[in-house]
Amino acid sequence: MKLKVLGSSSKGNSYLLESSSGQILVLEAGIRLAEIKKQIEFKIMDIIGCLITHEHGDHAAYANQFTEAAIDVYCSKGTATKFKPHHRINTITALDSVRIGEFKVVPFNVIHDAAEPFGYLINHPECGTTLFLTDTFYSEFTFKGLNNIILEVNYDVDILDANIESGRLAPSIKSRIITSHMSIQTALELLEANDLSKVNNIVLIHLSDGNSHEINFKKEIEVATAKTVTVADTGTEVLLNKTPF
Ligand SMILES: [Zn+2]
Ligand SMILES: [Zn+2]
Repeated sequence: MKLKVLGSSSKGNSYLLESSSGQILVLEAGIRLAEIKKQIEFKIMDIIGCLITHEHGDHAAYANQFTEAAIDVYCSKGTATKFKPHHRINTITALDSVRIGEFKVVPFNVIHDAAEPFGYLINHPECGTTLFLTDTFYSEFTFKGLNNIILEVNYDVDILDANIESGRLAPSIKSRIITSHMSIQTALELLEANDLSKVNNIVLIHLSDGNSHEINFKKEIEVATAKTVTVADTGTEVLLNKTPF
């Protein structure tokens, strides 16, 4: 299972999970479909669906381009209320698993300033159980049997405070960030709370431009988990397999 990162920031999120049989599950609709088409050599028929976590533009601005191209979009009922109605929008329910091609997906609630944001547990014989968790300030759940983790690590509390002290950020922005996005400190706690014994990869996504430190985040999580850690940038590819070989 190949994970391809086409965008991973507040400018636009999009990730592709591509199985060896050629099925592509798109995570998030935060970049133009035309750009995705280019990246998959225009094999649009290989896209079996697009999972969206919530309605914010950096995750869903181009959802309508998917539905108009006859691609099924999956999201919560609350998120769907923010989109123009379309028969290709499939509303799914927290903790009810849904099959999308070869993939089995279980949505769960996260905590973010959106209508009904979801995180996803994505299961496929090739990548095992993969956690996709973004835009939440913590997780009320722990997860069993994880093989791969794709996790938002948005900011560092100390960098955020320094930016406010220096006047680079308005104090009002801090309260929004700390109640809607995940800090490196919370990410470390979350990883600590979960059984990582079968985890092969931890992919860090959605780093804030001004409030994060890519090299330190990678190092801190490597030290804490002894796992392979990759910071997602546009163009990053990671082999997400169930077994490390
Ligand atoms: Zn976001
Ligand atoms: Zn958001």
